Amino acid sequence: MTRFSGKVVLVTGSSNGIGRATAVLLAQEGAKVTITGRNAQRLEETRQEILKAGVPEDHVLAIATDLATEQGQDELIDSTIQKFGRLDILVNNAGAAFNDAEGRTGVDQDVSVYDKIMQINMRSVVTLTQKAKKYLVETKGEIINVSSIGAGPQAQPTFLYYAMSKAALDQFTRSAAIDLIQHGVRVNSVSPGAVLTGFGEAMGMPAGMHEKYAEFISSHKECIPCGAIGQPIDIANIIAFLADRKLSSYIIGQSIVADGGSTLVMGMQAHDMMSILKS
Ligand code: NDP
Repeated sequence: MTRFSGKVVLVTGSSNGIGRATAVLLAQEGAKVTITGRNAQRLEETRQEILKAGVPEDHVLAIATDLATEQGQDELIDSTIQKFGRLDILVNNAGAAFNDAEGRTGVDQDVSVYDKIMQINMRSVVTLTQKAKKYLVETKGEIINVSSIGAGPQAQPTFLYYAMSKAALDQFTRSAAIDLIQHGVRVNSVSPGAVLTGFGEAMGMPAGMHEKYAEFISSHKECIPCGAIGQPIDIANIIAFLADRKLSSYIIGQSIVADGGSTLVMGMQAHDMMSILKS
């Protein structure tokens, strides 16, 4: 018996990055998993990684669909229940950021960018949670949302709509947690700092740019004090902890920050004040 034996998990955004690492980890630890994303080829890569880890084929359900549509969400929930008969853990991980097509920045970014970001990062979490609720109440299950340190309290003028979507998600986590705990369902979230995933590419960054960014921030202690960018498994391990009621039952409506120390550093602390003042 492994710790998620008998549990059924739906991980959104599992065709890449953090969601993929989470699906592989939970499946390895005994869960039956529904994996999903729009990109069928990447989704198949996730499925293959899970099978390579020794997980039986009938423990994995892969559904290529657009989570931004309610039709896609219905398909996810209905197919999961049809195949596995229950739902114990919902990981609301899928998310994205988009640039303004005309290169506008700050508050000038077109409101269509805001709509697109809110649709996938926030609205889809609300409606998928609504659709999953009755099954999670039946199993006294768990919801884990994937937020971001971008939610604040620091300002994020470059990615303000993305940051706003994650701030809204944090309030949803807290409020949904109190609403659903009366039914025995726990809701928590994880707030990653910088993690090396397909996120940059999905935003339209040219090949290699995300890696260049990773190299820069890893080698500047004012960006990441621990000196290393996060890997998807670092976040997957926290999701597994929050999904494991034996370990985390008393945590309700919280977000665990995993950012190598990034949010603890203030700009003025990045300078050696004593040597500046002595010179
Ligand atoms: P990736 O781009 O590697 O993965 C994003 C996943 O979301 C993919 O599987 C993608 O699938 C899926 N997705 C996006 N839009 C849709 C859609 N409309 N319908 C279905 N699936 C969709 O990025 P990450 O792994 O980094 O992102 C996972 C979460 O982590 C996000 O919520 C992100 O905001 C958060 N995060 C990431 C950080 C980082 O530095 N990487 C930092 C903080 C938070 P597909 O393309 O196949 O549709």
